Amino acid sequence: MGWPRDLFFVADEEVEEFKCSICLDVLRKPMKLMCKHIFCHRCIYDWVSSRVCQINILQPTCPLCRKKIHYVYHDKKKSDGTYRLVSTQFNRHISRNFLTRLYSIEMKCINEPKGCNATFLYSELKDHILDDCLFRNVSQVQVISLDTDTY
Ligand SMILES: [Zn+2]
Ligand SMILES: [Zn+2]
Ligand SMILES: [Zn+2]
Repeated sequence: MGWPRDLFFVADEEVEEFKCSICLDVLRKPMKLMCKHIFCHRCIYDWVSSRVCQINILQPTCPLCRKKIHYVYHDKKKSDGTYRLVSTQFNRHISRNFLTRLYSIEMKCINEPKGCNATFLYSELKDHILDDCLFRNVSQVQVISLDTDTY
């Protein structure tokens, strides 16, 4: 659930570092695990939730290196026997340099297929969708306004 690689004006060699290994798209709200692997927030959150709910594993592992993901807290069992993920505490300390390089990649608008010709830095995507884009829809605005990232 990152952003499609095609939206970004960046060379193939350069974009590799910024891809999420779960969705294979460009990282969105990157989260770093204790093992130092980085994924989209939504991707790793869903990964952990699905492991916990389907197989009842209380100790999910990193999809890349299989190291245990620590600091996962759960509710009591729900009536259907699954657990609900209450919160996960990941190691959020991603280097400033990494984030700066990621968010300074130039990109097209996610509404380019609908006709938006705007280009801007990744760091400006949220403002573009919330304030400027003529092709945005309500669900995009709702979803993107929740992207309270630290860039
Ligand atoms: Zn992802
Ligand atoms: Zn890992
Ligand atoms: Zn736009």
